[in-house]
Amino acid sequence: MPTTRQNSIQPNRRRHPLSKFFDVLLLVALLINITILVNFIGADWRIYFHYNYFKRSTQPIIAPIDASQLTLPFEDTFGAPREQGRVHQGIDMFCRLNTPIKNAQAGVIVRKGNNTLGGNALWILGDDNRLFYYAHLNGYAGFSAGDHVGQGEIIGFAGNSGNAITTPVHVHFEIMEIERLFPLKKKNINPFHELTGLSHGKSHGLI
Ligand SMILES: [Zn+2]
Repeated sequence: MPTTRQNSIQPNRRRHPLSKFFDVLLLVALLINITILVNFIGADWRIYFHYNYFKRSTQPIIAPIDASQLTLPFEDTFGAPREQGRVHQGIDMFCRLNTPIKNAQAGVIVRKGNNTLGGNALWILGDDNRLFYYAHLNGYAGFSAGDHVGQGEIIGFAGNSGNAITTPVHVHFEIMEIERLFPLKKKNINPFHELTGLSHGKSHGLI
């Protein structure tokens, strides 16, 4: 009578002599791919992730600062010359230090951090698939990158951080249209008319 031991089927554990080599090769190839992808997508990954591929809002924007909070007249300075041959890519809303900044368009915070020109800055991908940039903040509200923020919610507080350190406190505000998503190509448009309502025939907050 055969014993249990004799009946049991032993799995074949022998592997091809080169299998370990191929495992390592696969792992290296995978790491190279990931590195290329991470470099290519870079800091823009949240934009690709949160982009509204199927749905696009047409909700008009609201002004980040109320007209009553302005300390200087609101002027169209989009395209105005700036130092080192740059041009002004947005508009400035002058106000008191720590004036709460309202989110112009519902969307997702895709970047939050400090840069040389903008100081404390925020990038929001709006539900309308446009990018909104707020700069020179004195501080942030309690949101983190990846958070969805509703229209009109307080996202930060006005200041003069970055290259605005020698200027009066203001919110630098930009709107960028996404011309091509991947790799990202964006174009700044003039927010002045949308904020003053000149192109819509009605005011959305300023003037
Ligand atoms: Zn500015």
